[in-house]
Amino acid sequence: MSNETNFDVVIIGGGIAGLATANRAAQQGLKVAVLERGQGPQYLCNSRYSGGVLHIAMHNAKDPPESLMEVIKTATNGKADPELARALATTAGRAIDWLQSEGAKYIRVGNIVWQQHVLAPPRPIVAGLDWKGRGPDVTLRQLVANLQKRGGRLIQTPALSLMEREGRCVGVEAGGNEEGANKEQFTARAVVLADGGYQGNAALVREHMGIDLAKVKTRGAGTGIGDGMRMARELDARFSDLQYFYGHMLSRDAFTNDKVWPYPQLDELGTVGIVVNDAGERFVDEGQGGVFVANTIARLPNPLSTWAILDEAIWAGPGRTARIPANPQLANAGGTIIKAATLAELAAKTGIAREPLERTVAAYNAALANNTLAQLAPARSDQPIKPAVIAKPPYYAVPICAGMTYTFGGIFTDGDARVMSTRGAPIEGLYAVGATTGGLEGGVGGGGYVGGLIKGVSFGMRAAEHIAQTLKG
Ligand SMILES: Cc1cc2nc3c(=O)[nH]c(=O)nc-3n(C[C@H](O)[C@H](O)[C@H](O)COP(=O)(O)OP(=O)(O)OC[C@H]3O[C@@H](n4cnc5c(N)ncnc54)[C@H](O)[C@@H]3O)c2cc1C
Repeated sequence: MSNETNFDVVIIGGGIAGLATANRAAQQGLKVAVLERGQGPQYLCNSRYSGGVLHIAMHNAKDPPESLMEVIKTATNGKADPELARALATTAGRAIDWLQSEGAKYIRVGNIVWQQHVLAPPRPIVAGLDWKGRGPDVTLRQLVANLQKRGGRLIQTPALSLMEREGRCVGVEAGGNEEGANKEQFTARAVVLADGGYQGNAALVREHMGIDLAKVKTRGAGTGIGDGMRMARELDARFSDLQYFYGHMLSRDAFTNDKVWPYPQLDELGTVGIVVNDAGERFVDEGQGGVFVANTIARLPNPLSTWAILDEAIWAGPGRTARIPANPQLANAGGTIIKAATLAELAAKTGIAREPLERTVAAYNAALANNTLAQLAPARSDQPIKPAVIAKPPYYAVPICAGMTYTFGGIFTDGDARVMSTRGAPIEGLYAVGATTGGLEGGVGGGGYVGGLIKGVSFGMRAAEHIAQTLKG
């Protein structure tokens, strides 16, 4: 193996964003290294754990750019930075084709608009973690092989800090032992941060979100520990709103039963029905969707005190329609589902306060019937998620928790993935792509999922193309 330490581009992180950047840069004749903290050929990262669906806010990523821009705007309540939204919307179609030209294979799932590009082979319809040999894992290994064929390198060592000269990023320090000795310096004409976010760093999650990670299930690899943000801060980078995360409602058993996460997610149960606390009271507008509800649960004084409440019609209807549905996957995986003929019996079996629970369900059903959902406290939206009455026994209570997949906020870049400084200008030689970046996702109150994979590939390509153009002058 070569001991070369001078590169055109050094990329920190070998998830889909880092590997897309690396291959697109190598394709254009640049000398590339990826520094990856994980070990072995199947090092863990969120990309490898993912469901492999390339979509934009649950729409086909190959839709016309103008329509995708609207989709992003709506999904994020207008919070997405317009330049980033345009960059993604105009690159996504090309990114889908480029990834295919790299050897990725897609399957389409029927007429489901957002599942037209699912990395193959797809994961089976079962609960739990199942990534080995599935589309994302196969695609990442293909991208590593492509990079090596193009003369690029994957160096499995942790990046520690950025090297700076006169305000310009000129390389990365990496490796070293526990005493901090034997670090290696990799010089580069451009550095790309692709380290995947900060959801694996409890101190940063507490600082920026006020959330106790011990009471929220990590719904991912936990490998994003905020290193990119820390390094970028030293070069005076600007950050976007860091408050919210992408995640879902999960069974509360996820803390003790690995078969019930990352799937099934329980959003359909709690957002078509209702979500209550142990006191039998609603505390969130469930109609805003599962990502929003998960963000709210995570911030409760006790995030481990919540329940999805539904009836047989919801269980047999929306409970079965998710990609990996709670009905029957949650039961198959041994997840807790409490069933009762009456709400009083449900309260007795769960310990939820009986009278408030009965009152909450009655008020909700009446508001639905009278079209007065907006007058409930908290108000209940009837879109994007349409509520259903809870009236057909048996009734169900499922203990839930918030699952955090990745952080929405992060390093703020322009549309070419150049990291912006707090002074409003790009930091020379420094780029960021994928889940370590912010500004695009995370709408009001924590909705606003746009799509992690397509964001990673699209901005990876844009970064590489901008670097190649700049370096070739
Ligand atoms: C269960 C699950 C399902 C998902 N399903 C989908 C889906 O269907 N569609 C979709 O669009 N998105 C999905 N996502 C989200 C998506 O996977 C991520 O948003 C995306 O993969 C992020 O890619 P990334 O390359 O930025 O980060 P990652 O894939 O997390 O890669 C970052 C890499 O950086 C490395 N790293 C971190 N710090 C350092 C350091 N100091 N030095 C060197 N290396 C470092 C990490 O080890 C890691 O390998 C899902 C995520 C999960 C967990």
